[in-house]
Amino acid sequence: MIKENIEAVRRRIESAARRAGREPSDITLVCVTKEAAAPAVLEALAAGITDVGENRVQDAKAKQAALNPGRALKWHMIGHLQGNKAKDAVGMFDLIHSVDSIALLQEIDKRAARIGKRQDILLQLNISGERSKFGLDPSQTGDFIEAVRPLKNVRLSGLMAIAPLSDGPKNAWPCFRGLKKLFDGLLRARGGNIEMKYLSMGMSADFEAAIEEGANMVRIGSAIFK
Ligand SMILES: *Cc1c(COP(=O)(O)O)cnc(C)c1O
Repeated sequence: MIKENIEAVRRRIESAARRAGREPSDITLVCVTKEAAAPAVLEALAAGITDVGENRVQDAKAKQAALNPGRALKWHMIGHLQGNKAKDAVGMFDLIHSVDSIALLQEIDKRAARIGKRQDILLQLNISGERSKFGLDPSQTGDFIEAVRPLKNVRLSGLMAIAPLSDGPKNAWPCFRGLKKLFDGLLRARGGNIEMKYLSMGMSADFEAAIEEGANMVRIGSAIFK
């Protein structure tokens, strides 16, 4: 079942990409495993999943212990990250999507320096103002970028957002469009450790809309593990 679900999701990603005149291969599917037990995740991996997203450091730790050996998986931290968990997160994740304050950014840099890592991060913006109490206010984006520049152990790889939870993607479109606009504006800021490669938006309920508006990374859980 999980295999079929993944195939169906991939087909929908492909169609959305084509409608937008983009290559399906440019879009990274992050399989969100927060509601899935290890055997279900194993099925997803057997179906070709390479990128796994978790919301909590503790849960990710358990899954990594069960799944990592012998596998080249990319781990994504997508849930809210508290400063005191930054130390653990830096050792565990390839990409942290949920960096939403300068304080957290600096804590991650400090922890990454201690283990000699360059941590890839996304800036999470609060574009909906309602669904998520997390995410930086977009008006503070410039300050955040300037805070990233001097840091030696982080790389800003792009932006992440969660669209408003409403019935269906209708209310998500303006958010996705707004985030893409911000993303495009920030392409000018590239250089050094500012890379702006990924635009992480779109979940089970709204990923096609997100792709059509420019997402190149979608985070999908329930459409796979339903
Ligand atoms: C749970 C979660 C997802 C996946 O949501 P689904 O609706 O199950 O696809 C994506 N992003 C974040 C931040 C999440 O917490």
